Amino acid sequence: MAEFSVQLPGGFLHKNRLFRQAVFCPICGEMELVFQEAGKKKDSRPRYVTGVLAAALDNIAGIQAEPSVVNRLCVADRQYLMLQLASMLEGDLFWMSSACSSCKSDFDICIRRSDLPVKEAGQGYPFATIKLDGAEITCRIPVGEDQEKIERLSDDDALHLLLEHCIEAVNDNAPEEGFVDSLTQADISRIEDVLEDISPSVATRLLTRCPECDAEQVIELDPYALPVTETDNFYQEIHTLAMAYHWSEQDILSLPRSRRRTYLDLIDRSRGMYG
Ligand SMILES: [Zn+2]
Repeated sequence: MAEFSVQLPGGFLHKNRLFRQAVFCPICGEMELVFQEAGKKKDSRPRYVTGVLAAALDNIAGIQAEPSVVNRLCVADRQYLMLQLASMLEGDLFWMSSACSSCKSDFDICIRRSDLPVKEAGQGYPFATIKLDGAEITCRIPVGEDQEKIERLSDDDALHLLLEHCIEAVNDNAPEEGFVDSLTQADISRIEDVLEDISPSVATRLLTRCPECDAEQVIELDPYALPVTETDNFYQEIHTLAMAYHWSEQDILSLPRSRRRTYLDLIDRSRGMYG
């Protein structure tokens, strides 16, 4: 598979210009090994996503996709990229199981990742100028790095820290210490509304109906879930190729996924022929 390029719903700000192109590397065994290992670590979700995307992406706007770069992508861009990566690994279609909130029966739903509504960033992204009572502030959209910092905080503390990080100017000056504490509830609601307006987003809640009782159901989707092959399968595939061809682990891991599967098919077929 060749490199695969996508258009970010938000974009990456570099030297005051917004770039929206992200390019994935072709999927190879080395990359899948990173996904496997990252899944086993007990990292926080944002850190896991950063590690996976930094391994999977070649560049963003021509800039090498180091963790520090991936960390500066907004939340929706990171969700969008994880969904694209899942499609590259598994295809566009996937099945989810759910239980009806009304009649409690289990049902399956088939979802196309490409059908999930994506809202692109609004004017001025990633910054918003917001008029509050007595002050005009400049606020930026939260990014992966912010998510990492608030991961283990209570909702109130997380909001406080986000505001401290994201409010970049008050009446064109750097915010004074304690400015966030001076905000009223109305100010905070106003900031949240404006940021939501210009933020890109990926729909992660879907409406459907229970096939048994027809009650409306809301399905919550995990945009970060990655359909990595079963760990055992992955290592089994490496083992099978090593046994058949006597290639080194490194050689096998460097094969693009599609080529690895072709060789595995060939091994299967020759076993069928001679076995
Ligand atoms: Zn039902």
